[in-house]
Amino acid sequence: MVTAEPSIFSRIIAGEIPADIVYDGERLIAFRDINPQAPLHLLVVPKTDRYRDVVELAAGDPELLAELVATARLLAEQHGDGDFRLVFNTGAGAGQTVFHAHAHVLSTAGRGGLEEGTLVD
Ligand code: AMP
Repeated sequence: MVTAEPSIFSRIIAGEIPADIVYDGERLIAFRDINPQAPLHLLVVPKTDRYRDVVELAAGDPELLAELVATARLLAEQHGDGDFRLVFNTGAGAGQTVFHAHAHVLSTAGRGGLEEGTLVD
């Protein structure tokens, strides 16, 4: 669904506001969460603003969702030890604040490899 106001992620994708971008592909972008909840906390975001959440993304473009998961894996290997938690908050009641589909990639292994750390639920 297209919303009237561009989402904060659309503005990052357009280069209107800065972000710590770690991946910039044809259909996906990834950057560090501004409020990290784990030593490694990335957001993997489809460049299209067509899908409000992962349910719409899965129904509308399952290949893009599969690409998102593969990208999460790649980034967890590049920036951590490869193990990660993949979170899709879906709906305001579940804590979703940005209604532009995205995945949180959370890992105890942050910059520079393994670190002591705990994931925040
Ligand atoms: P959610 O609550 O699942 O919708 O996730 C939205 C996430 O976007 C939150 O974890 C925020 O910390 C993060 N966020 C919001 N604005 C920015 C920004 N400008 N740069 C990076 N992350 C952001």
